[in-house]
Amino acid sequence: MSVVKSKPSLDGFYGEFGGAFVPEMLYANVTQLQQQYVEIIAEPSFQKELNDLLRHFVGRPTPLYFASNTSRLLNTNIYFKREDLCHTGAHKINNALGQILLAERLGKTRIIAETGAGQHGVATATACALRGLECIVYMGEKDIQRQAPNVARMRMLGATVVPATSGSKTLKDATNEAIRDWITNAENTHYIIGSVVGPHPYPDLVTKFQKIIGEEIEQQLLTQTGTALPTHVIACVGGGSNAAGAFYNFIEQPSVQLISVEAGGEGVHSGKSAATTQLGTVGVLHGSKSLVMQTADGQVIEPHSISAGLDYPGIGPLHAYLYKTERASFYNVTDVEAIEAAFATTKTEGIIPALETAHALAILSKLTWKPSDVVVVCFSGRGDKDLATYMPFLK
Ligand SMILES: *Cc1c(COP(=O)(O)O)cnc(C)c1O
Repeated sequence: MSVVKSKPSLDGFYGEFGGAFVPEMLYANVTQLQQQYVEIIAEPSFQKELNDLLRHFVGRPTPLYFASNTSRLLNTNIYFKREDLCHTGAHKINNALGQILLAERLGKTRIIAETGAGQHGVATATACALRGLECIVYMGEKDIQRQAPNVARMRMLGATVVPATSGSKTLKDATNEAIRDWITNAENTHYIIGSVVGPHPYPDLVTKFQKIIGEEIEQQLLTQTGTALPTHVIACVGGGSNAAGAFYNFIEQPSVQLISVEAGGEGVHSGKSAATTQLGTVGVLHGSKSLVMQTADGQVIEPHSISAGLDYPGIGPLHAYLYKTERASFYNVTDVEAIEAAFATTKTEGIIPALETAHALAILSKLTWKPSDVVVVCFSGRGDKDLATYMPFLK
């Protein structure tokens, strides 16, 4: 078996997946990013500025919490990597701050972003407020309705929230609008993509800003248990940034099992699902070659998930590669199972998870564990934004 690598090739490919398929109008911006990103983020002054912000503004390192009640119920060892305790409530801020510092060094003054659940929009608006930059966030009209608290937060932070009204009016459509804006304003604008998707270098760039999650897991496990490597790392996958961050350090450690959980929606074969690896075929979406939910003639199929952050018909090229090479195991969880897991975890552990995170949590009771297993769940975000979705299920 060939070795599964965590880094892409120089032109941004993970096996057959990745690359940069962009319109000519974006060629200069994407090339500039490709040529400069590695060097800029390796600069000691960049690293110092970012690390100071992550520590004092975001609150890193986030705790690695031994979930004793869940562990007892499942007769194993479950740890939550508490990204829900990051400032703004999810892992997205790690990437948003990194990209803001990068945009400043590239001389860009205007920031655009797409958002699904609104967490990336809030993180980007927060970073822009901090650094005094103009911020425009594209968001599907349907997501604007189901994630109202985050829309209010973005506006209060000074961002302009622009509704995307085409297609399913969700994340894919917001991404299309953001790309259209970037083409029109390429000169002064940096597009902060919120996940490990998009043309090279974004998948690698965003992974580099999220890999701190896995680095901290390794250090914290070593301190807390005497062993740095878990047996399993579990994460939900929308585009795949919290999973990429949690997995990265362990991809080349074959003893660590990587478990990815996609949104099954109303069931993989119900016609209302977002389980991209199960339903997708090889295609190009938003600038990179990956697995895409599409018709035989390449039209994107509208995805469905109760969770806005997982409601996306693609998956980052790194994850398509981890799927194809079988380095990660892929599962999917339905809307109902995610809701049940959210209520169960809240009652058992006293932590209200984001709906996205609830997908990762739902897999815990579906798989079997050994008493000696050390299972880390990337607890990607907190559930405050999802209360309106949870309330009708309150018994
Ligand atoms: C955005 C989001 C996700 C999904 O995005 P990834 O890029 O797949 O991580 C998962 N959890 C939360 C809390 C989110 O906000």
